Amino acid sequence: MLAASRRWRAQGLKVGLVPTMGALHAGHLSLIEAARTENDIVVVSIFVNPLQFGPAEDFARYPRDPAHDTGLLGGASVDAVYRPSVEVMYPPGSSTRVHVSGVADPLEGAARPGHFEGVTTVVSKLFTAVEPDRAYFGQKDAQQAAVVKRMARDLDFPVEIRVCPTVREPDGLALSSRNAYLGPEERLAARSLSSALRLAALAYAAGERRPEELRKVLCGRLEAEPLARVEYAQVVDPETFTPPGTLAVLAVRIGKTRLIDNHDLSQVFSG
Ligand code: AMP
Repeated sequence: MLAASRRWRAQGLKVGLVPTMGALHAGHLSLIEAARTENDIVVVSIFVNPLQFGPAEDFARYPRDPAHDTGLLGGASVDAVYRPSVEVMYPPGSSTRVHVSGVADPLEGAARPGHFEGVTTVVSKLFTAVEPDRAYFGQKDAQQAAVVKRMARDLDFPVEIRVCPTVREPDGLALSSRNAYLGPEERLAARSLSSALRLAALAYAAGERRPEELRKVLCGRLEAEPLARVEYAQVVDPETFTPPGTLAVLAVRIGKTRLIDNHDLSQVFSG
């Protein structure tokens, strides 16, 4: 991958990288479109990264559908797909990890020990393998994007991190590869996340600024949903991911499926 990327860049072409774990959907396609608009070359990576899954998490059953991905990418304008194997990414004996502290510690960092270390390790390896000018991440995983930005800055990766808006289903549910786990009743219950974010944005627009009150709005809606179990619901600063702030962040289990979502309450919720 690196030789091709260096050839492109030697010709003065800008390279945009879209890192994914496959099971592609319209959220991923929106990142690809943004990369297409802003670069000459678009590279998509597909790698289900074992390092970012905890021992009790869903690595083994994470949806993998290469034929579906190839079909979707056929309709998108992509110059190269980088699909490294686990052995190429982590050859026997590999033992180095990239660890970000601070922004990586609360919320997802606390709920999923080792998760962000897995993410920053693989993303730094992807940056080394592709040497992109720009890399594209989704606001859907807002803390991940902030952690990657911190890492790129701290390790002097010469890459611009671009964060693209969350793509949602018509009823507001944020697209996610994990939505495929939801049964029909759970799928209905999953609307509670976007619905809670919408209600909190309305409360904010009506003048509510007290973090505890905004949290109550979020939790009130989520707890009204019998299939939902709240892991966290907070309103935090979008840079540090600690209170106070305007970014409402949620992690909720619907049955066995863990979903996350977020919304900046100072903005209209248009999902
Ligand atoms: P994943 O394949 O789930 O690791 O996601 C790859 C990239 O797509 C990450 O930067 C995600 O934040 C982004 N992404 C996932 N879902 C969405 C969505 N609904 N809208 C926009 N970006 C998304």
